[in-house]
Amino acid sequence: MTISPAIPNTDAAFQAFLDELHQQYAPLSEGTVASYIPELTKVDPATFGICVVTRDGRVFEAGDTRHIFTIQSISKVFVYGMALQEHGRDYVLTRVGVEPTGDAFNAIVLDDRSMRPYNPMVNAGAIATTSLIKGDGPTERLNRMLDMFRGYIGHDIFVDMSVFMSERTTGHRNRGMAHLMRNFGMIDERIDESLDLYFQQCSVTVDCRDLAVMAATLGNHGKNPITGAQAVNQRYIRDILSVMHTCGMYDSAGEWVYRVGLPAKSGVSGGLIVVVPNQFGLAVFSPLLNAQGHSIRGLRVCEALSDHYGLHLFDSSMGCTRFVQQLGQSNGEVS
Ligand code: GLN
Repeated sequence: MTISPAIPNTDAAFQAFLDELHQQYAPLSEGTVASYIPELTKVDPATFGICVVTRDGRVFEAGDTRHIFTIQSISKVFVYGMALQEHGRDYVLTRVGVEPTGDAFNAIVLDDRSMRPYNPMVNAGAIATTSLIKGDGPTERLNRMLDMFRGYIGHDIFVDMSVFMSERTTGHRNRGMAHLMRNFGMIDERIDESLDLYFQQCSVTVDCRDLAVMAATLGNHGKNPITGAQAVNQRYIRDILSVMHTCGMYDSAGEWVYRVGLPAKSGVSGGLIVVVPNQFGLAVFSPLLNAQGHSIRGLRVCEALSDHYGLHLFDSSMGCTRFVQQLGQSNGEVS
């Protein structure tokens, strides 16, 4: 099937485009579901959803957008925002850097000059940012973190206990990294408590629509476009989007920026979020992963959407602006 080369000038045209993408990529059966967390193998590999939420709160959905799964590494983006908000940019920079690693998400590697983990999007850096979450004891810290997620999602959320226990009992690599970072003073002595909090943040349940709302919130200066809640102080949006842009796709971050050109983050359960700043949030869910742990259908959908509408941040045709003008004209307003 070929995708008609038209800029959407109505909501219906954009919805039709998403439906076409879904139809085109649903038959793809390449890739495997994540198996190193035993509970994640239980997912149906055919599940596939695409959702876009615009800055003015319009929602476009195709496929299984209400299927529930655990957020996994996509959580790292939001916990990083929370750490920035609680400690400020300068302090957080003493504990976690902003350099891409070129290594896999679970690499046991620290910057050998500063001994910091390289960035907050890889596991080591995410464990370091999670360790910064304030609170008196594990329950208060977890509750504060869940409140933060609720601000982005707009409704109550839960931790999947089976996935949490599965990660907790098999997460030896993450445990090893935490102890290494403790050795260098990058995390405090609450090692097991912070690891539990990290496994819990990865086990927060969402659906594809929730993820699109979260991405749209980042694209809307931190304000949830559906509820109007300010989920994170807008001064930290540029930090969050910068590390997503350079590090969110781990050891394929360079290729991602080259092909799609937008800040993004993936998770091993099959979620992928993309932020089109000042425009919209996109989320794809499909659990068949490539070797780097990214959703294969997710990658294809994002590349097709970016190409088709010229959304790459460095696209000389400025498709990003054109998209908004046209979609905006037909609907009265898009600021
Ligand atoms: N919970 C997973 C882990 O720590 C998250 C990894 C991911 O989604 N890339 O290994």
